[in-house]
Amino acid sequence: MADITAEETKTDIKSMNRQELRAYVSGLGYPAYRADQLYHGMHVKLKQSVQEISNLPKDMRSFLEGNAEIADFETLACLESEKKDTKKYLFGLGDGNAVESVWMRYRHGNSVCISSQVGCRMGCDFCASGIGGLVRNLTPAEMLEEVYAITRETGERVSNVVIMGTGEPFDNFDSVVKFIEMVSSADGLNISRRNITVSTCGIVPGIIKLAELDLGVTLAVSLHAYSDEKRREIMPIANRYKIKEILDACARYFELTGRRVSFEYSLIKGVNDSESDAQSLAELLKKSRSHVNLIPVNPVKERNFRRSDIKNVLQFQQILEKKGINATIRREMGSDIDAACGQLRRSYGQNTKGEMADEGICGN
Ligand code: SAH
Repeated sequence: MADITAEETKTDIKSMNRQELRAYVSGLGYPAYRADQLYHGMHVKLKQSVQEISNLPKDMRSFLEGNAEIADFETLACLESEKKDTKKYLFGLGDGNAVESVWMRYRHGNSVCISSQVGCRMGCDFCASGIGGLVRNLTPAEMLEEVYAITRETGERVSNVVIMGTGEPFDNFDSVVKFIEMVSSADGLNISRRNITVSTCGIVPGIIKLAELDLGVTLAVSLHAYSDEKRREIMPIANRYKIKEILDACARYFELTGRRVSFEYSLIKGVNDSESDAQSLAELLKKSRSHVNLIPVNPVKERNFRRSDIKNVLQFQQILEKKGINATIRREMGSDIDAACGQLRRSYGQNTKGEMADEGICGN
């Protein structure tokens, strides 16, 4: 695929891993330890400007100031849920685009859901992210900065990262892998790879490639239907890959990494939430003994889909559980702040900054 990341005039040094940064810094005529100080300043101290990395020599700082980019990021909006356990951020990027990220506080730690692209080209019917199509891929630095900006703003450590925001991570494979390597590195935030989840709509070659890399991360696959025919009605990608191929790739993922794949299933009233849908799904997954995450669909205003009634959601879960499939219902988080994928970015596009910032601003 063509490289559609932002055109940079300044060098994107924050997307460089430690080795690449050492090569860059030695090319400028400075010793390797200067690169390590710079890396530490960006990825541990989370500094937003080279001037703040005060252990670097002045001449190096002023060169980098003019020639290198370390964070062209601005918080456009930050909304907090009533319960104060969810914060949704809208970040402005250097080229005028915007991305969303979500922070969630759980008993076991803080989790951040990041976007991997501006927009998305997968076009799932019930999802707001794909409505305007794909704009561009995010760079590793931009994905890192989603986590860093939230860490700075909340003042709390992030222990889990889910790549489940806007975008299809396997449509931006190399940058997503680099992001995972850097965010989990001992030189950086050191987030355990076991606590990183990559969610895909089911791009089979991506699943296999990730399996072969054996990074130790969790893979989640958005299934949403038990048959190819039903899946094609709501997910265009189902025309490309069959459920059987996806499940075979997931079995391969387990074989190569020892980590069980989990499945996401968004429940849409009258579309995929009947008793027989649940029975057929249980039949399909019984061999894989996978975990299913049930997500009552978040209604998107541009679409007609409705959320399943709670009694159907519970019944769906019970049917799966009875057949030995572990199923959880995703905690309803932040629906009062438009937490469904892509909704904040879309509403921002239609409103002014001031309107967006009316209510529930973080820190209030
Ligand atoms: N492209 C990736 C990751 C982004 S979406 C993927 O498809 O997995 C993260 C999850 O939220 C996916 O399971 C997606 O299908 C689901 N989702 C998107 N819009 C939704 C909505 N309006 N309500 C409920 N789930 C939704």
